[in-house]
Amino acid sequence: MADCANTLVRTLSGVGPQVEARLARAGIHHLSDLWFLLPRGYEDRTRITPLDQLQAGESAQIEGRIEEVERGFRFRPQLKVALSDDTLGGITLRFFHFNAAQVQQFTTGAWLRCHGEVRWASQGLEMVHPSYRRIREEERGQTRATLDPVYPSVDGVGPAMLGKLVRLALQSLRNDAALELLPLDWLRKLGLPDLIDSLQTLHAPTPGTNLSALVNPAHPARRRLIVEELLAHRLSLARQRSQIRRLGALPLRSEGRLVAAFQRALPFALTGAQRRVWQAIRDDLCAAEPMLRLVQGDVGSGKTVVAALAALQAIEAGTQAALMAPTELLAEQHFVNFQRWLQPLGVDVVWLAGKVKGRQRNEALQRVAAGAPMIIGTHALMQDAVRYQRLSLAIIDEQHRFGVHQRLALRDKGHDGESVPHQLVMTATPIPRTLAMTSFADLDVSNIDELPPGRTPVQTVAIEMGRRTEVIERIRAACAAGRQAYWVCTLIEDSDEIEAQAAQSTFDTLSAALSDMRIGLVHGRMKAADKQAVMQAFKSGEMQLLVATTVIEVGVDVPNASLMIIENAERLGLAQLHQLRGRVGRGAAQSSCVLMYQPPLSRLARERLDVLRRSNDGFLIAEKDLELRGPGEFLGTRQTGEAGFRIANPMRDTECLDLVDSLMPRVLQLDGRVADALIARWIGAAERYADV
Ligand code: ADP
Ligand code: MG
Repeated sequence: MADCANTLVRTLSGVGPQVEARLARAGIHHLSDLWFLLPRGYEDRTRITPLDQLQAGESAQIEGRIEEVERGFRFRPQLKVALSDDTLGGITLRFFHFNAAQVQQFTTGAWLRCHGEVRWASQGLEMVHPSYRRIREEERGQTRATLDPVYPSVDGVGPAMLGKLVRLALQSLRNDAALELLPLDWLRKLGLPDLIDSLQTLHAPTPGTNLSALVNPAHPARRRLIVEELLAHRLSLARQRSQIRRLGALPLRSEGRLVAAFQRALPFALTGAQRRVWQAIRDDLCAAEPMLRLVQGDVGSGKTVVAALAALQAIEAGTQAALMAPTELLAEQHFVNFQRWLQPLGVDVVWLAGKVKGRQRNEALQRVAAGAPMIIGTHALMQDAVRYQRLSLAIIDEQHRFGVHQRLALRDKGHDGESVPHQLVMTATPIPRTLAMTSFADLDVSNIDELPPGRTPVQTVAIEMGRRTEVIERIRAACAAGRQAYWVCTLIEDSDEIEAQAAQSTFDTLSAALSDMRIGLVHGRMKAADKQAVMQAFKSGEMQLLVATTVIEVGVDVPNASLMIIENAERLGLAQLHQLRGRVGRGAAQSSCVLMYQPPLSRLARERLDVLRRSNDGFLIAEKDLELRGPGEFLGTRQTGEAGFRIANPMRDTECLDLVDSLMPRVLQLDGRVADALIARWIGAAERYADV
């Protein structure tokens, strides 16, 4: 790749160690990183508007002589600077934040060039906090030849400074044909500009350019960069995958004795979808290449059984399997299930979570090191102290809760220099096609697209908080009919403690209102053993109503529970609400879900609740969720940060995906260095952590 792209930003004038560190934190290391920092908008400074032609509500560039400076205090300190020019017009600049140096600059008679939005004030036109610069009188009327890009600021480096650095970085662009990494004939056929053209167009548009077209992602200059970026991500994923493949994995072949025994003992037959997915997994596990498979299945579709089958295959082959879940409660549920399923087959299950301490922990670690076949837990499974004897299969449940780092860390755990563990990732939040093609392109995806028989769709209603008494009566009736109910208190602030308090007070109120009922409480602040005891009591039917925080969101499984109340449902996202609702509708009884909300609802919140009332389909809900929130939030901040798109937005730029598809084989045929350069340019050092 041409050197100018890889030149470090510290070579630019004005970049000292401090600025360099700040830029680095924002992921800006090389000149090419500055090229791809696109303006968020543009200002037209090619013209100067005479003061008598200013219009309120418009942005304008003006020049004026300082007539009067007034420093005053009206509710807060402010500085007013009155300007005039050769016309009869005038305007006042108003500052609320200013320093002594600024005040000193404003001397009567001096000329200023300003840019800002003009508005009406009581005493005439004004600009509040315009950008401005002192000019000499001779400089008047000397305007720019191109439109001014407006840059964002990053982590302590302001827009003006960034703009200057981008301009410097762009100077290195000229006449370097080696910078173009996409096939020119391909670009031409589609009417897309080459790299240098695109960057010039976007960073230094000529006067008369249609500015609103320029910020539109469909603009050819932007599209061209978007395609290149999406392509780089695809290449990076493909490459990581082939690297992992090259490491190899233990082929887990066996007679299938354990698997068969387990299936015989199950009180139900596998669904067709479970059988199909299990077959794909078994084939993967028998190969000497590591499996990288994502199993998507709506809540309640029976992913756990499939995970157990995979684990047994690994175990019968004489190796270890680990299952990691994002919350302690969910991990415990898995532990209880796996013990119930595996112990009769003579398979030991080890429990390892952060809260396991002291002697118990040492004992668990020893068992793992000695080769215990099945290990279940939380993030604790990845700690340094955990040494596996022969980990061949890492199962990760509800993957959307984990960052990419964590997934890779568990994989690395079993890495003995020659092979890596097979990886099975399970998620109830389906990854919509648009994201699947970019962020998850290189996982094999299996869908469990069928629910076990006898399930009835959950009926969902939205009810105002004010009708709480009615809701309580509904619980009483359901429980009198032998059914069980959940009452979920949602997060008020991002604090376990406050949430626990809220749950406690709801528990108190409900206990008073339903004094003849047996009610339990579970929240994230409780000791693991206490939580488990409450869950067990609920599961066995001893308790009729369970008041809980969103800790029960994932995986909790009590088929007799058929009523779920979600308090302040308007605070939660679609995916989370769907997950929560998935806790009911697991038995044959008609289940319902009551979404209680605090009016007035925002438009978005109303739309979310409507989607849930209308649909039980996890795929449809996920698509809708993505549409309402955008992919950033959909994946959780941690993952988007890592997926690290700069210009592209995989959700918005769906039609570019087809272009990327058509480009992939072309680029793969080229010298491998082209792919290297593309990946280095767009993803750089973050590559290792892109989604695998
Ligand atoms: P999820 O996909 O949400 O993780 P689970 O694995 O927890 O779902 O399964 C939900 C419930 O369905 C469990 O009670 C499980 O025992 C039951 N189940 C799984 N597979 C089947 C099946 N083929 N037939 C009937 N019930 C099943
Ligand atoms: Mg599950």
